[in-house]
Amino acid sequence: MIKITGLNKYYNKGTRNENHVINDFSYTFNDQGLYVLFGPSGSGKTTLLNVIGSLDNFDSGEIVFEDRTFNKYIPRKADDLRNEMIGFIFQNYNLIDSMSVSENIGIVLDMIGITDKDEQKKRIDDCLSAVGLYKHRKRSVLALSGGERQRVAIARALAKNPKVILADEPTGNLDSNNTFEVMNIIKRISQERLVILVSHEKDLVDFYADQIIEIKDGKMVSDYKNSLSSELKHKDTRNIYLQDYKNELKEVDNIKLNTYSDGTNSDLTFDVIYKNNEIYIKAKSTGKIHYIDNNSEIKLLDASEKEFHKKQAEFKSDFSFESFNNEKDTKKKKGFTSIFKSIKNGFKEQSFIKHSKFASRALVIAAVIFAFMITNLSAIFDFKESDYAFAPNNVVEVQMTLKDSSNNKTFDEIYNLSLTDERIESLQEGGVTISANFSKFYQSSVFGFSSISNVFLAKKTPSLNYKLTVGREINDKYEVLISNFVADMLIDSPGAKSNGITSYQDLIGEEITMNNYSRYEYSNTNTKKYKIVGIVNNKSKSVVLSSDDFNEVVDPTKFNTYSDRCYISTSDREAVKELVENMGYSSVFYSQENARSTFISQRISDQATRIISLSIMTIGIVIYLILLIRSSMFQKIKEIGIMRSVGARRFDMVSIYSGEMFAITTKTSIIGFSIAYLIIFYYNTRFSLDGFGFNIVSTGLITYLVGVLLIYLINIISSIIPILFLMHKTPIEIIKKYDI
Ligand code: ADP
Ligand code: MG
Repeated sequence: MIKITGLNKYYNKGTRNENHVINDFSYTFNDQGLYVLFGPSGSGKTTLLNVIGSLDNFDSGEIVFEDRTFNKYIPRKADDLRNEMIGFIFQNYNLIDSMSVSENIGIVLDMIGITDKDEQKKRIDDCLSAVGLYKHRKRSVLALSGGERQRVAIARALAKNPKVILADEPTGNLDSNNTFEVMNIIKRISQERLVILVSHEKDLVDFYADQIIEIKDGKMVSDYKNSLSSELKHKDTRNIYLQDYKNELKEVDNIKLNTYSDGTNSDLTFDVIYKNNEIYIKAKSTGKIHYIDNNSEIKLLDASEKEFHKKQAEFKSDFSFESFNNEKDTKKKKGFTSIFKSIKNGFKEQSFIKHSKFASRALVIAAVIFAFMITNLSAIFDFKESDYAFAPNNVVEVQMTLKDSSNNKTFDEIYNLSLTDERIESLQEGGVTISANFSKFYQSSVFGFSSISNVFLAKKTPSLNYKLTVGREINDKYEVLISNFVADMLIDSPGAKSNGITSYQDLIGEEITMNNYSRYEYSNTNTKKYKIVGIVNNKSKSVVLSSDDFNEVVDPTKFNTYSDRCYISTSDREAVKELVENMGYSSVFYSQENARSTFISQRISDQATRIISLSIMTIGIVIYLILLIRSSMFQKIKEIGIMRSVGARRFDMVSIYSGEMFAITTKTSIIGFSIAYLIIFYYNTRFSLDGFGFNIVSTGLITYLVGVLLIYLINIISSIIPILFLMHKTPIEIIKKYDI
């Protein structure tokens, strides 16, 4: 039951064009019967039907649908009502052209939550049989005639098993035969359900309606039970039967003019211009000009229109809603279209987002650029522990910059402290550069010289913790242990590999030299060779020396007084830290975590320009994509209106579009990205794309996966944003605005 009280709607309210299109309409519809809203064109019938069907909003009044009351248009409530209660049949069918007959119905079933395959198939087949289109179920709707399309639209409305069917001039575009067929089906439905039909065709209304509600200028002017006329004499309002017109042939020079007239013409004057085999026509009389060719809806028939007679007894249709499985009906979830189905549709190219070659290429190109950007960005964060590890964990790092700059302390004070305080085991300025020459054992075209800078010298003291993993302890003078990080770096150097140094074991017995290039005199004098006897793990980039060797190499009296920091090894870090801080220096415990965070912030500030420019480019691409997707979507916007009208809730639209965008992205962006990524990966591993000691690109699996994920996210979000904006409009606003 639908009860409407005091319904009012205006177009252009408050302006000079104000149109009171529904004027205080009140009515109660029962649960069955064919109610016809009858009235001349422009009287407000369509608007009234749309408002009843919650396709359009209203200004005041109340609409009660069983237990739901609407005092104003609430989009979410309206969505639910359309979805759960209403089947719509439109004058111009409003089918989705990119889908087959069955799919047009299936998508509505998805939306109302009937996702069970068997029940779907049964409903689709039953409804298509009822309208005589079962054999065309797999065809594209574009391949159907007008009458067939309207019957698909009826089947679509029936399949929902709706409480109410609303039909707006459903036969307006059909010829007499099809009109009769379609109206018979509608009449049959009305014996089980409430059907509200809009029509301006008197003969049809008299033949079919149970109740006639006459509308004029937005007002109900009469309402009466129809005494069904026993005979239908229907006129074809669409096609032109030439033999019913007065024909005259006029010949002037070589020009033949064949005129057909129903006698209503007054003065007809045309300018006809021939130029380069093309014809230009200008009519000087009033009246609309229709151009007719083979594709026109209107046909010129060389015949006289036959009277179309039908008797009441000729209704026939076996359709009944009883065959639907209502158990499945009541179990329906809050309807939502399966995202997987949407992905499938996207792959089948039956999509709502227009696939243009241009858009696909743009998606591919954007993804290729994105591949360069993400490998570039990821290079900034691509580093190993050995890149920032330096000293072992028994070290206090002292910042030589004083807290108080007026207080003139120097390195000497720390040095003096180290001589007197027993807790200080060693003191040094910074890292050294170690070098190894692997060339002596192997014939190789590649010079086997490897050099590693900024290596920490660790004095072998009780507080130095390490684990010997390969080789043996230091037994003799000029023997050293190297940390695994140093060992890895030596092995990774090009000189090592080509000279047969490929494992930790290979390094045992090799010799290194140590230099501090920042101190001129030291680099000149120290050419001592130290033999690697073992490899240790002490989480630092260090070389471990015996006490004697350490004291020989690290001579604090030759320290560079301009150093900005120094390192103290100690068994009691807490105490030493406090001590130097009390002297006015700032200091930190040396640790992996500290080193790591310092390293990262340094790296980011070094690379700030690169990060900023890459980010701006990324944002640019994203904005471009949003605009691109938006514009391809707007070419198909009417279909969004259709989907909304037949029951799609907001979430359905989001689900449909993200599913499709997922498929499109996979076919375009992801393929483009993957190919570009592979090429970058190939060149990076072959030629190690390196700029100023820094990787230009980094091509790990994680970077690839993050890239793929980001592309899906960017594309899907870009496609949902315009949809969400569109959802603010009522379905009828969407359809009307973009009806082409
Ligand atoms: P009918 O279906 O009876 O032909 P409509 O409901 O389509 O009538 O239109 C009723 C009146 O409202 C007409 O005068 C029409 O021009 C006007 N109208 C319809 N839609 C709009 C709109 N979106 N904005 C302004 N006026 C409209
Ligand atoms: Mg209308």
